This record gives sequence, structure tokens and C-alpha cells, in this order.
Amino acid sequence: MANIATLPQLLVNKIAAGEVVERPASVVKELLENSLDAGAKRVAVDIEDGGKRLIRISDDGCGIAPDQLPLAVAPHATSKIAQEADLYTIASFGFRGEALASIASVSQVDIVSRQADAIEGAALTINGGDLAPTTPAAGAPGTTITVQNLFFNTPARRKFLRRPNTEMGHISEQFTRVALANPDVHLTLSHNGRLLHELPAGASLRDRVAALFSRELAQGLLSVARRERDIEIDGLIGLPQHSRPSSQWQYVFLNGRCIRDRFISHALREAYRGLMEPSRQPVVFLFLRVPAEAVDVNVHPAKTEVRFADSNVIHSQVLAALRDRLLSTDLSATYQGSHNATARKGQSAPNPQPGQSCETETPEQRRERVRRAMADFFKTSGPPQNTPNAPPAPTTPTGEMTQTGPNTAPTMNSDTRPPLPSAIPDTSPDHAPEAPAQPASQYAADHPSPAPDPSTAPQANPAATPPAQPGELEPSKHYVQIHNSYLVTESDDGMVIVDQHALHERIIYERLHQQVSNGTLSSQRLLIPETVDVTANQMAAMEKAGPLLESLGVLLEPFGPRTVAVQGFPTLLERVGPAEFVGDLLDLLVAQAGKVSREQLLHELLDMMACKAAVKAGDPLTQQEIEALLAQGKNVDRASNCPHGRPTSIKLSLAQLEKQFKRT
Ligand code: ADP
Ligand code: MG
Repeated sequence: MANIATLPQLLVNKIAAGEVVERPASVVKELLENSLDAGAKRVAVDIEDGGKRLIRISDDGCGIAPDQLPLAVAPHATSKIAQEADLYTIASFGFRGEALASIASVSQVDIVSRQADAIEGAALTINGGDLAPTTPAAGAPGTTITVQNLFFNTPARRKFLRRPNTEMGHISEQFTRVALANPDVHLTLSHNGRLLHELPAGASLRDRVAALFSRELAQGLLSVARRERDIEIDGLIGLPQHSRPSSQWQYVFLNGRCIRDRFISHALREAYRGLMEPSRQPVVFLFLRVPAEAVDVNVHPAKTEVRFADSNVIHSQVLAALRDRLLSTDLSATYQGSHNATARKGQSAPNPQPGQSCETETPEQRRERVRRAMADFFKTSGPPQNTPNAPPAPTTPTGEMTQTGPNTAPTMNSDTRPPLPSAIPDTSPDHAPEAPAQPASQYAADHPSPAPDPSTAPQANPAATPPAQPGELEPSKHYVQIHNSYLVTESDDGMVIVDQHALHERIIYERLHQQVSNGTLSSQRLLIPETVDVTANQMAAMEKAGPLLESLGVLLEPFGPRTVAVQGFPTLLERVGPAEFVGDLLDLLVAQAGKVSREQLLHELLDMMACKAAVKAGDPLTQQEIEALLAQGKNVDRASNCPHGRPTSIKLSLAQLEKQFKRT
């Protein structure tokens, strides 16, 4: 081995650059933070070629004195802290004094700066870490830093840079974070001379969300605020139907710094638990302020991770802030919207809400739904026997539903119950009670369903399964939908509870998968292309995934700088609105691009398509629909689990039931 030697400073800087400067977006982040630390109220960001050719950031901040310019690019030189104690009370973004040195070691940097009270400014050029002499320069007060040809002297790193649009997507993301956290600063972002954003100062957070995301999203956000034990929380949170497939639209700022923290992420998911599908993520713009000494920001070179003195307190405060707001908000509009199955059908529904979930309801609504489901259940399943003391018939697990003993007939509705129950759950969204009910036995006769193999009919335990009474429903031909979410059917040796969404999802997934493999996936051209607003990131992801999307029957075309036109759409997804689908699709691409194999990405996309096209928990189904669903389930591979791996059905054997009823 060679002798041990201290490395030359330039090499040390290059190594440090590996940590701090990953791509053009990292440069933008560092320079923007420097401008904010300098007290700037106007900052312009100009980018060329995704930042590969040029990044220029001009601010009207405090400026740098001419004799200090070389120090600004010296490693570990900073004006923000002076002694160790300062490390524990950091109020600025920067403090490590290594960003400019690192950037300057791997690019060509020009700094022009003038302090407000100085007659003139000064300029300094650094080429791959080599400083030229400082020269006098004219210019307005403030600082302009131009970074050109990033990684020109580290070809291995330059090779790893992506296409300009992809890099621009990352830059936009950094810009977005800064813009959200600093509504008092006037900010602009341009790419190749085209102005992408002009954000006036003095805006509200909601204004910024409207400008950076969409007006529709901004209008629907709920404000949250909470202050307890030195912890201040405020911000805007999305409605459950704003949910996204990834946590990308979760912006959490700690003392103004955008961070990722697993305790906070967990609290966010927890706050929305039961309000959206577990695979979805809420949209959140949250600002936490804690005393500087309650958090250590010096644990990550880019400072996106922090260490809290007490993570549990942060977790519980975030959870409480969101939970209180969500529980005190009437989300019923959302609930009805997402249950309105007819409104979602077809392409004509105007601007469908993104990511509609059927699981959005308040505790009161839930109680009402359970009450209605119970009533439906008794209406549809009918009396087990007409004599009060007879044992319950096998098709009606009423003992559990009513908490009565095994030998006691339920008393609920006993005098209002019609003699022949209706077998058709009401499919109209508003449950119109006057809908004519078809007699169950007639229905069952008209619609024979796939019955279980008669050779294994439940005769094994005659004591527990008395033969059906005359006039009673043929057990295998009757299905009960409970809570508009689960289907209960009788099986050979007990009962099966099917998760309607999970099973349908699997069926559609398999069908889509087969069609993609055979190249037979049918797509329909939209007569009038629907337009969708997208972020720069989404646009870049879309361009990259073009062929993959085409194989899925999704035809997208750019339609302006931040708009995409949906030209074609998989036929199977006609229930879903193109705008909703494409928005979520692009989010998923942004989240996964480059991280997973093409095969995995395809799986995720099919999975998402299946999830969207499938009936939802909360959708009422007719007997025909239930029968069709169960019949299709029999012919599909891997029907026991949904594409996420969760079970689609749960079986309860007679033996288990008997054990529960203490009959054995
Ligand atoms: P840090 O931000 O951690 O101090 P940097 O390398 O980013 O380290 O910057 C070094 C120093 O250069 C800063 O401490 C600051 O004094 C000065 N500086 C950098 N950018 C600006 C700017 N836009 N306006 C005024 N001063 C700046
Ligand atoms: Mg800095």
C-alpha cells in the first residue's frame, strides 16, 4: 500500500462535492438558500439545458464585500456561524460553508456581488476551483452567481446527468419547495429563456399552491393550525379525495427547511387512516416551528433529514393537528361524490376529482351506513324461521349480527319485515326506497348463479345445517353485500366473505396483463382530447415513458408548457376519468422512474389501472353484478389475493362458526 498522505484541498472539495452536489438541482437548492440567508426579497432563477449548461441565480440580498469574495468559495468558510455554540441554534439555511467551494470545484463559477451601501461591486471567476483575481464590477445591489458546465472536470459524474427535461424537473421541485416556504419573496424560474413561473411576493400559501400545482387543488385544501409545548404547526392539507399514489405531494417544512422525516410521514398516514385507501398518500403542505435547540439539523449534508430531541412529541402533535381538523370537517360532499357511481361512469363527466376514494366518511356517516347495511341485511336475507325459537337457518348468520343467542331469533324489524325479502340491493346512488323490489325467489329462479359443486353440498353436518325450508332462498343462489363492500356467500363447508374491490382489482389486473402481453390491449381515441395540467417533473416523466404508456393504450401529447392532452385511453378504464387517471399515472412515473425495472414499473402501472377500474368499497352492487364478479373470480389466476398481495376473501368453516357459537 502507498503511504498515507493528507489530500490536496482541491481534491477534498471535489469529494465534498460528491455529497452536496448531486445534480443541477442541488446547485439550485444551495444557491437559493444562500440568497434567502442573505435576506433577498427578489430572486430570479435562470436555467439552460436543465442546468447542465448554465444555472444563474440573481438576488437583491445583502451582497458580499469585494475582499470577502475569495472567502465565499473557500471551503469551511461561512458568515453564518462562528463558534460551536452557534451549531445548536442555527437559524440560517447554510452553516457548513462548503456549498460554494464544492460547486466551484466541479464547474465554472462567476460571482458578481455588490453590497447595498457600496459604490461598486466586484466580480470573481473560479474555474474548476482555480480562482482568478477579483475585479471591480458594476451592477445593482445583491449577488448574481452563474454556474456553467457542471461536472465539466468530473466526466464520470457528468455522464450520470439525465436529459435536460428530467434535470429541469428536479430543479422545479427545489424551486417549488423554496417558493412554498417563502411567500414573501418574489421568485421567477426560467428555462432556456422561457418563463415557467413568476411568483409575486406577499402571496398566501394557498396562492403559491395554486400557482405551482393547480387552482382546483388549492381551493379544496383545509387549513390546519395548532400550537402546544413550543411546537407550532400550520399549513394546508388535502381532502381525502386529493390523495396521491406516492408521498411526493407531501411538503413538510421544519423551521423553513423542507425535510423528510419518517415520524412525521407516519403521523400523516395515521391521520388519514380510514379516510383513504392504505396505498394512497395525503397531499400536505405543513410548516412546523420548533425552538432551534429542539432539533439537530447537522445530520445530513443536504440537511433534508434532521434529528428531533423528542420525535414522539412531534409525531403526536402533527397527528393531533391533522386528526382534529379532519374529524371536525364535514367531508360528506366528498363521500357522496365518491359514492355516486353513475357520475363517474363514462367519459362525459366533467373534470372528475383526482383519486376519488370511497372510504371518506365521518364517524356519523359510518354509523348511518352500518345502520343501513344492517337494515338491508335483514331485509335481503329475511327471517331465518317464522317461529321465534327455531334455530337460525344456515344462510343467515343473524346470531352474530344481532348479538342474540343461537336459539333466539333476532327481534330487530320483526314486525315490519316483509314476508318475502327483496333480493335486490338497491343500486341507485341515493337508495330510493320506492324502487320496486323483485321477489327473491323469482329473482333466484331467473338468475341461476354459479353454484358450488353439489357433490360437496353442506350436508356433512346435518345438525348444524338443517335443510332449507320451503319458500326459503336456495342458499347458493343468494349473496349478501354488506356495507356495500363485502360479499358474503355460502361455501361447501361454511361461508366466504369476499372483498369486492380486492377481487375485482385482481380480475382486471390479470386481464390487463394478458392484453399487454398479447399486444391486444384496446384503447379508445377520445373524440375531444381532455387536457390535464402537469408539473415540469410530470412532463419529463411522460416524455421518457412514452413507449411504455403507448403499450398500455395511454396516448398523451404535450399541449403547452404545463399541459398534456389525453388523446387515447384504455377501454377497460372507461369508468375512470382520463384527467384523474393521467394525473395519478404521471405521479407514479415521477416517483418510480429510474428506481425500478421496466417490469416492475409495468406491474405498478397495471396495478394502479386495475385499482382505479375496479368497483370500490362502498359501491352498491346488484345481484347480477355480484354473481358476475364471483363467477369471473373463479376463472382468474391468483384470485385469492389482490395485486398488492392482500387476501380477496376470508373463509369461515362451519366448524369455526360452531366453535364461535359454542355449539361444540
Ligand atoms: P454557507 O451557506 O454554509 O455559509 P456557502 O458555501 O453556501 O456556505 O456560502 C459561503 C458564504 O458566502 C456564506 O456564508 C455567505 O456569507 C456568502 N454568500 C453566498 N451566497 C451569497 C449570497 N447570495 N448573498 C450574500 N452572501 C452570500
Ligand atoms: Mg450555503
